[in-house]
Amino acid sequence: MVQHQSLSEEASELRVHAGCRSCGAKLKRSFVDLGMSPLCESYRSEDQLDTMEPFYPLHVLVCEECLLVQLKEYVAPEHIFREYAYFSSYSTSWVEHARTYCSMIRERLALGRNSLVVELASNDGYLLQHFLPFGIPVIGIEPAHNVAQVALAKGIETRTEFFGLDLAKRIVAEGRRADLIIANNVLPHVPNLNDFVAGLAHLLKPDGIATLEFPHLARLIEESQFDTIYHEHFSYLSLLAVDAISSRHGLEVIDVEELPTHGGSLRVYWSLRQPGRRPKPSVADLLAHERDLGLDRLETYTSFTDQVRRTKRQLLALLIELKSQGKRICGYGAPGKGNTLLNYCGIGPDFIDFTVDRNPYKHALYTPGMNIPIRPVTALDEAKPDYILILPWNLKDEIICQMRHVAEWGAKFIIPIPRATVIDPMEIFS
Ligand SMILES: [Zn+2]
Repeated sequence: MVQHQSLSEEASELRVHAGCRSCGAKLKRSFVDLGMSPLCESYRSEDQLDTMEPFYPLHVLVCEECLLVQLKEYVAPEHIFREYAYFSSYSTSWVEHARTYCSMIRERLALGRNSLVVELASNDGYLLQHFLPFGIPVIGIEPAHNVAQVALAKGIETRTEFFGLDLAKRIVAEGRRADLIIANNVLPHVPNLNDFVAGLAHLLKPDGIATLEFPHLARLIEESQFDTIYHEHFSYLSLLAVDAISSRHGLEVIDVEELPTHGGSLRVYWSLRQPGRRPKPSVADLLAHERDLGLDRLETYTSFTDQVRRTKRQLLALLIELKSQGKRICGYGAPGKGNTLLNYCGIGPDFIDFTVDRNPYKHALYTPGMNIPIRPVTALDEAKPDYILILPWNLKDEIICQMRHVAEWGAKFIIPIPRATVIDPMEIFS
């Protein structure tokens, strides 16, 4: 997990960008201000509970020029990503998503032994492993040492570095260019957006394709998903904003798909701009849809704050009512997004006795800021709480199905977003 440095080191690394990370314009307009929050992946050990914990501003802005929704760089990225507690392989539905994607893209691009697939932020190799049985050469790029080690052990060539134009040039100098570049949930985490996209364009073969998945800003706004905002997540992307970035780097969006992952994502297909080629109709359709939702107008962004405050009040009203009735509440999951929700709403052990997670890396640790203990999933069977607050709400169907036996002692689930809702498993599975 993230190790905290001394205060002076923290201060010297505090780098606040003055301008928009896409177009450079001065940032003046607020999207939502979630106050001060700790780094959402900096889980705490028992020893650390007696020590001071750094909190950083979590204030999201919108660029008046290109409408990119973004967080200033309050924390140096090297500081965040070196040791990352998130192992992709611990989410069953995400592993399945990766497998389906690999078989689709392998056929669509006719990838073979002479191809090269590069994945940016390749995590523990959960995705690239699916190309190995077909003899397709792969390179993973993963700056977090601990997860990269797991990928290397699976036999996946992995470079423990941040991706940008410099690394792209070094790979090309080795005589290697990519037929396919995969960047799943990485673009939002990139502090220097233009350097990253320039590197991606440089590394592509002339007819190569890059696919990028990222949570869709339209869904964040529609469903009040403010908890997907955290310090590691610098940009909140619409297709309109991605389109603006593409044209600056000689890239073109040639296709786009809407996906159910992470609360609603886009998969964008990028290629180098070639005269005469026409993007699929999906691109114009989705751009038109975003304009219908008002994503081309500043007012749509500046009204988000009121909506987030309403979501917070509804969740707190439910939890206060349940605690007044003497009910016991536990959490399910300890994802990064859960920590934004807990800190912004002020939900600590006074509401939630403990939370559980399938990732053993987090067991015996505490959630940042709120210090809620994290235990193995079996702890729920022993404690038999009345309510279980599902923090990774994007996986709620999977979790409710896996945990439906809690109905045996009458437990119900609480889904916090977009509006606090109670789900009784007896009504679903009886
Ligand atoms: Zn801008």
